[in-house]
Amino acid sequence: MQVLKKPPSGWPALVLNADYRPLSYYPLSLWPWQEVIKAVFLDRVDVIATYEQTVRSPSFEMRLPSVVALKSFVAQDRPPAFTRFNLFLRDAFACQYCGSMEDLTFDHLIPRSRGGRTSWENIVTACAPCNLAKGGRTPREAGMIPHKHPARPTMHQLQDLGRRFPPNFLHESWLDYLYWDIELEA
Ligand SMILES: [Zn+2]
Repeated sequence: MQVLKKPPSGWPALVLNADYRPLSYYPLSLWPWQEVIKAVFLDRVDVIATYEQTVRSPSFEMRLPSVVALKSFVAQDRPPAFTRFNLFLRDAFACQYCGSMEDLTFDHLIPRSRGGRTSWENIVTACAPCNLAKGGRTPREAGMIPHKHPARPTMHQLQDLGRRFPPNFLHESWLDYLYWDIELEA
């Protein structure tokens, strides 16, 4: 991961919740500058830090925000949506049988052909070779037991897991609001 002193391309702003924590860690909540300016004018966000870059129109001039915080708190306690992304995130992008992080697919613990459902409780992340090896068998028949018993994660758990996947680059003005161990490069 790189820490940039120059603004990242497109001047995105890090978006914080009203408690000054990132709205989302993974993907990191970044808005393009056009959206940020709109939110400033609609009075939905406070500007916490800015880039040097300014935008001008005949009637105003402002520095582009690099960090903004929502004025009203967005509760993160709703149950996470059952999506491919969230399922991979729950399993930390690792095959639940062998730990591989490549060639990931979804495996129905109880195969669909045997009445298994497509649900948080019956799907795990599996690499293609493990998925193929397990085939249409149950974990017990195949002798393949997932590392973790699959369950519906909470938003909080997903956020925590997301912190394990920092993006490739960060702007230095974002660092105070992220809780990664980051070594600053000169
Ligand atoms: Zn595997």
